[in-house]
Amino acid sequence: MTTGYVGRFAPSLTGPLHFGSLLAALASYLDARANNGRWLLRLDDLDVPRSVPGAEREILNALEHHALEWDGPVVRQSERTDRYRAAFSRLVDAGELFLCSCSRRSLRGLTVYPGTCRSRIIHSVSNADAATGLAAVRIRVPATRYAFVDEVFGVQGESLDAHTGDFIVRRRDGLFAYQLAVVVDDAAAHVSHVVRGADLLDNTPRQLYLMDQLGLDPPGYAHIPVITDRTGAKLSKQTFARAITPRDAAMNLYLALELLGQEPEPELLHAAPRVLLAWARAHWALNQVPATSRFSDFVSI
Ligand code: GLU
Repeated sequence: MTTGYVGRFAPSLTGPLHFGSLLAALASYLDARANNGRWLLRLDDLDVPRSVPGAEREILNALEHHALEWDGPVVRQSERTDRYRAAFSRLVDAGELFLCSCSRRSLRGLTVYPGTCRSRIIHSVSNADAATGLAAVRIRVPATRYAFVDEVFGVQGESLDAHTGDFIVRRRDGLFAYQLAVVVDDAAAHVSHVVRGADLLDNTPRQLYLMDQLGLDPPGYAHIPVITDRTGAKLSKQTFARAITPRDAAMNLYLALELLGQEPEPELLHAAPRVLLAWARAHWALNQVPATSRFSDFVSI
């Protein structure tokens, strides 16, 4: 029987899967399956300039080797621009979008956008289109605290004006920003639970604000701790963390379950991925996932 639970894994195509993204994939998969839910796969390939050729094939291949089977067709953000445009147009109508031509250099070192271009409100989508290549589009944020209860990290939230300030929804090169795309896609797929890496924890209030503006219901959230390497640096594709090898799928899954606090039985150490996942689905306990970023000896760059 399926329930209303819909989860998803949404890797960017900036490189092959590394251990940190396997953790996020595994946690979201297990949470969905343990709740008799669907688990979708979306490729976040909007950022064409940063997409790495061959990454898609490598990611799908790695998921298959780890027996992480998704439901339905693979969704690609690059094929969904019309949807983002429709949402963008709605935001234009709400009157909070403005053109920003501040250079990267002028904003360097600032964590909060200083509001320089705030008065350049956009009145139509064509207004924004005409500025492609010249200006990014930001959304004005209110002095409202956007809070949520994360199933791993507990109560989270921040006032956007103090934390990020007005943020970009369409880049200067005309590409829609991740913040907008993720909100539109999750809502369109009826995603009920977002389980993803804790590196995105502080993006969530911005996404909640966009949902508010677009009249969308927020999903539940669980953020998975980020695994660090020996030096304490976050493992990410950008730091060239070692790609996981599909050949070691069983061992990778076992280690990932340990890091997720699931205490897999030692007899499972050499079990096939499918066997490990069957055990993990039956024993999945989200409340055992530690809310700390963990040093890991297993993974080294
Ligand atoms: N594509 C994003 C990433 O790989 C994740 C998006 C999300 O889970 O919201 O960092």
